[in-house]
Amino acid sequence: MSTTAGSPTARASSRAILESLGLEPVINALGPASQLGCATLSEEVRAAMDAAAQHYVPISEMQERASRAIVTATGAEAGCVASGGDACLCLAAAACIAGEDPAAMDRLPDANGLRNEIVVHRAQRNPFDHALRAAGARFVEFGYVGQGSGVGAYRWQLEAAINDKTAAIFYVGGHAQANMLPFDDFIEVARARRVPVIVDGAGEDIRGIRDLIARGADLIATSGGKDLRGPAASGVLAGRRDLIRAATLQQQDMHVHPDLWAPPLADGCPSVLMHEPPHQGIGRSFKVGREELAGLIVALEALADRDPDAERRLWHSICARLADTVEGVGGATASVATTAPPSYPRTIVQLPSADRAHNVVAALAAGKPRVWVNGMAMRNGQIGIAPTELRDEDVPELERRLIEVLNGGV
Ligand SMILES: *Cc1c(COP(=O)(O)O)cnc(C)c1O
Repeated sequence: MSTTAGSPTARASSRAILESLGLEPVINALGPASQLGCATLSEEVRAAMDAAAQHYVPISEMQERASRAIVTATGAEAGCVASGGDACLCLAAAACIAGEDPAAMDRLPDANGLRNEIVVHRAQRNPFDHALRAAGARFVEFGYVGQGSGVGAYRWQLEAAINDKTAAIFYVGGHAQANMLPFDDFIEVARARRVPVIVDGAGEDIRGIRDLIARGADLIATSGGKDLRGPAASGVLAGRRDLIRAATLQQQDMHVHPDLWAPPLADGCPSVLMHEPPHQGIGRSFKVGREELAGLIVALEALADRDPDAERRLWHSICARLADTVEGVGGATASVATTAPPSYPRTIVQLPSADRAHNVVAALAAGKPRVWVNGMAMRNGQIGIAPTELRDEDVPELERRLIEVLNGGV
């Protein structure tokens, strides 16, 4: 999008720097994906990162400032920043398992004898839940994936999975919810049993995150670099003040003399439990630098000026144009998909066979300029084109490459 990409001259000189390092940029038709370093950063975000790189502010103060931006953006009580949505899930699990007990923090991921069970609907197990296990959590599954009779899960199944070893209940937002217990049932059961609910919100946009917090999520983790359009190596954990403080204590650097230690705050509230610093916690592996913090704060505050409906309209029009361009070329048919996830529209190009789709994806990635598209549905002969990271000048280049490859008989 031209609004976020900077001037063509600035783009040419930044491209020259990468090329001088032997790195060849690709056209990003994959979307804000980690494989390509997530979303395009606005000039304001980049300026904040550049400013932070040239000055020193204590990280704890930057985290406190980020917490205020997270509170405003999400409606949560407090927030903290780690190196990604995945990192924030690990911190969330660590906070629910160890709380503000320094000895428990010191032991993780060895959670022997601690409350470390995390209850999850079986249909929501997914590759990112490794992040919770990495903190020492053990999943206890309930419900069914299939629907032999009735719905896939009842409240009594969730209730029966909770016991005095339960640290949290886990819920994944933004994904297929077929056969799932509704989120509000999770919250009601969790409240009655005084167990926190951790939400993976990385598949949600900011409206979805606000909604899940308003409905009672105790902790929600999301990527800084997807819908928030902040730095790729940033993630947001938003939620209850005491849990955010526990997460913060396990993440921020604790290499400090006890006499000089000031306990980190969570939205202005110091820990009442901690008088000496804990040791380096499990979240220390997910530190963020001042550049990420500054960039993410600006990205969060820019949310107030973003118009998600206008963004979707723009993306939809790019998708429709690309669909028109490829329709009928080399046997392709094309349409615009709008159902979430992901939260943005995409062009779906349907090819006659899986082999053909595979070859088209490979040829796009091999040509000049290189183009990366979404190949996750190649098995069905489909390729996905995401509009979110395409700059104005990318669109005609992308059209040219698509026609070249589709006509090229690959
Ligand atoms: C992207 C994603 C993550 C991981 O977030 P990162 O910021 O890449 O670490 C976790 N869960 C879901 C559902 C995601 O889409």
